Amino acid sequence: MELETKMKITTPVENKYNSIVVGGGIAGLTAAAYLTRAGQKVLLTEKNKELGGLVNSFERNGFHFEAGVRALEDAGIIWPMLKELNIQLEVVKSPVSLGIENEVIAIETLADLQKYQQLLERLFPESLDEIDAVLKVIRKIMQDMDVLYGIENPVFKDIRHDKEFLFKKLLPWLPKFLFTIGRINRMNMPVEAYLKTIVRNPSLRDMIAQHFFKNTPTFFALSYFSLYLDYFYPKGGVGKLSDALKTKIMAGGGEIKTETEVTAVQAGKRCVFDQYNNCYTYDHLVWAADLNAFYRLTQTEGLDAKISRKFEETKRKMLQSRGTDSVFTLFLEVDEPLESFGKIAHGHFFYTPSKQGLGATHREELDALLRNFDLISREEVLRWLDSFTRLNTYEISIPGLKDSSLVPEGKTGLIISLLAEYNLFKAIQKAGWLPEFTQALEDRMINVITASVYPMLNEKIMGRFSFSPLNIEKRVGSSEGAIVGWAFGKEMPVVSKIQYSDRSVFTPISSIFQAGQWAYSPGGVPMSILTGKLAADKIIKKGR
Ligand SMILES: Cc1cc2nc3c(=O)[nH]c(=O)nc-3n(C[C@H](O)[C@H](O)[C@H](O)COP(=O)(O)OP(=O)(O)OC[C@H]3O[C@@H](n4cnc5c(N)ncnc54)[C@H](O)[C@@H]3O)c2cc1C
Repeated sequence: MELETKMKITTPVENKYNSIVVGGGIAGLTAAAYLTRAGQKVLLTEKNKELGGLVNSFERNGFHFEAGVRALEDAGIIWPMLKELNIQLEVVKSPVSLGIENEVIAIETLADLQKYQQLLERLFPESLDEIDAVLKVIRKIMQDMDVLYGIENPVFKDIRHDKEFLFKKLLPWLPKFLFTIGRINRMNMPVEAYLKTIVRNPSLRDMIAQHFFKNTPTFFALSYFSLYLDYFYPKGGVGKLSDALKTKIMAGGGEIKTETEVTAVQAGKRCVFDQYNNCYTYDHLVWAADLNAFYRLTQTEGLDAKISRKFEETKRKMLQSRGTDSVFTLFLEVDEPLESFGKIAHGHFFYTPSKQGLGATHREELDALLRNFDLISREEVLRWLDSFTRLNTYEISIPGLKDSSLVPEGKTGLIISLLAEYNLFKAIQKAGWLPEFTQALEDRMINVITASVYPMLNEKIMGRFSFSPLNIEKRVGSSEGAIVGWAFGKEMPVVSKIQYSDRSVFTPISSIFQAGQWAYSPGGVPMSILTGKLAADKIIKKGR
């Protein structure tokens, strides 16, 4: 009520839109691009100065970095979307290297899976049968992925008019797809638990799966070997994809308001308010940001009682769930040429300095540490941090190795990250020593990487800064700093089966749709784009 009195409910004509899209991440940009293309009067609001959300690149001292995702996977979605919207994007392949201790291999073709098997065999000669069993499963999953992403996603095709696609591609593909879906759904158990059924060696299990989110469904985790082959990188950085969509929206007459945060939704009045209490009204709304925030900010006064009840029910489910693991990222500006790094690994590199594996470090030990946080000394936390950084798997991205124009001549920019628990950073912030902790974490990451894979690193660092789960939460408004939406658990508050993805965009309120990494699980860039398109399609269809 108090909120209501503070708000100006004046809605001048220029503040009335057919569709309003909240959130200028990749999902919101996609939805807005399709809605403007359909001739709607569209407003896209974004709380930050820049668009793109977790698909974003930035520059500092001549070094270009990615703030979120390091490279893109097509997944049968991104190229069809670009083609349909007539967007040209210049890209290069972004090959992946995998490394454990002194062994580094490049994954460039399907055949390189053999190299991966041999690498594991050299490191774990006592576990040959178990390695073979895992690789058999990965190969099967790769075949399923070939089916899953084997054709351009039909959501981006005009099936009514494109008869060639319908008869030559879609119809022959459908039975294979339905068969594959059954297999995917049977591989839904958490990868940690699944691996225990075929691998006894805990270190080997860790080498295969410790860089996935807690409880990642097995199919999703082990399908990454296919995704490694699919990665590409837009010239100029991944943010170029967001830039291209922004240009498309503007060219189509869509309106974009940056630094405009939606702070309330009055669903009964079909009106959103920004931080300055301006009111914008809509026929349809696409919420393409954190869904917890949507359910907290939305008021249902004036709606049918049944809809309000359904809304409250869904809200309860949403607010009980939490986001996935987050990530801690260290950005380095290094006075060393790209070639020195290129000799060691590709510009997208998953590296584990020790084959011992994290074991209980990032799970039970961390849980115990958080439970007893008030009783534990800083020294104990830092001792835990020693193991956490020494035994972890790092995702290392070097934009200059994908596009050499992204660094000053003779220098290299590195993005080094590891999965990180939001609650730990929150507890340390509350205890008042976050800057010290951040510095200790950065120091340890640099020391571990220098002592293992890039010996020249430590002495050549010219500049460094980092981004924690708390920064992600603050920047994109993501609960728990999550980077792909909901945590994997027993009950997902949203659709999580690919055959039902079409329904993922509905909310209990018929004029409001949801899109992005919180609308479907598992999230990620392709699914954010897909849900953005689905939400736009539903609105356009209703208009017809
Ligand atoms: C380090 C890292 C690595 C990743 N790797 C991969 C990968 O390999 N493959 C993959 O598929 N995905 C990956 N992802 C995940 C992927 O980047 C995200 O899932 C995807 O970009 C989410 O897009 P989105 O539009 O749904 O959400 P977001 O990018 O979070 O966009 C939401 C937008 O809404 C804005 N916003 C929030 N609240 C409001 C409000 N109240 N009013 C106005 N605006 C608001 C935010 O500022 C933001 O711009 C990675 C992410 C990170 C961080």
